[in-house]
Amino acid sequence: MPCTPLELVRPEIVALNAYHVARAEGMVKLDAMENPYRLPEPLRRQLAERLAEAEINRYPEPTGRELRELLARKMGVPAGMELLLGNGSDDLIQIVTFALARPGATMMIPEPTFVVYRMDAILSGMRLAGVPLRADFSLDRDAFVAQVRALRPALVFIAYPNNPTGVLYGEEDVAAILRAAEGLVVLDEAYHAFAQKSFLPRLAEFSNLAVMRTVSKLGLAGIRLGYLAARPEWVEQFNKVRQVYNVGVLTQTAAKFALEHLDVLEAQAAAIRAERTRVGEALAALPGVTVVPSQANFFLVRVPDANRTFDGLRRQGVLVRNFHGSHPMLADCLRITVGTPEENRILLTAFGEALQ
Ligand code: PMP
Repeated sequence: MPCTPLELVRPEIVALNAYHVARAEGMVKLDAMENPYRLPEPLRRQLAERLAEAEINRYPEPTGRELRELLARKMGVPAGMELLLGNGSDDLIQIVTFALARPGATMMIPEPTFVVYRMDAILSGMRLAGVPLRADFSLDRDAFVAQVRALRPALVFIAYPNNPTGVLYGEEDVAAILRAAEGLVVLDEAYHAFAQKSFLPRLAEFSNLAVMRTVSKLGLAGIRLGYLAARPEWVEQFNKVRQVYNVGVLTQTAAKFALEHLDVLEAQAAAIRAERTRVGEALAALPGVTVVPSQANFFLVRVPDANRTFDGLRRQGVLVRNFHGSHPMLADCLRITVGTPEENRILLTAFGEALQ
């Protein structure tokens, strides 16, 4: 008799919950921090032409050389640093984690944070040390540095700004962690377009720093592209873990095209930042709602009864993310992506209704 999957699959994987993605057809989709704007029509046509020229009969250039060069130029990657491309930054998180998962090695993260770090620690067999954020979701620098000294993690992930809170930690607090750590510190700057603060210019200062970004929040979540900047010695090792052709021809072509029109994406990000101010104030004015100040393109809000409000929003066709039950500090918390002015108008009306 063959064994069942439950008998064969590693128990820590059996115990995992799959990353949850809700169905969103026909909904006002404010659950996944996407840019709500598409490329303007003329650019979409030009992109189609560019994609039509792409040699999809050939394997991609394995390291995405042209795209790396363009990214380095457009994003201001300091000279002497190397880039590693990923199938989204999710891929990069996994590559870095698997590379550093020596037996007994520890990953350290502030918590609550992006769940994929924890999932990859479990998948790779790394020990995981979560250091609680303060009640206001700020970084407890002294506690974190003390834990870094005590546990000597091989790998630290810091989302800067954090997901699901939107909080941008103090630059000096992060620098203190970089100085205290013997292991690699990955700053995950997925929301850089909205926070406009970065450690990229400081890469040369810290030999244990890697800066990771994604184009997902900038308007290209569908193409799946992340990049990590670090010293060549790090990238050389990570390249051995990366699947040889992890970024396809169509993604490389579309990303190059989009980067040539980065001004368009940056203008969209600026519009989202302006909306963020408006939406944050409007949410905070609703009775019983607490809004966590955000430097990203979303808000974490606490409501009297998150399950009820979430269901009420869903019934009105608005999809947000419910974090109630996922972590004690996120009790009665919802995460709401900033959308277009029209989407935000619908959200705010529905929210008022759902709180009743
Ligand atoms: N890091 C953080 C902090 C995120 O919030 C996300 C997406 N939710 C990612 C990484 C993954 O992004 P990508 O789409 O590039 O895989």
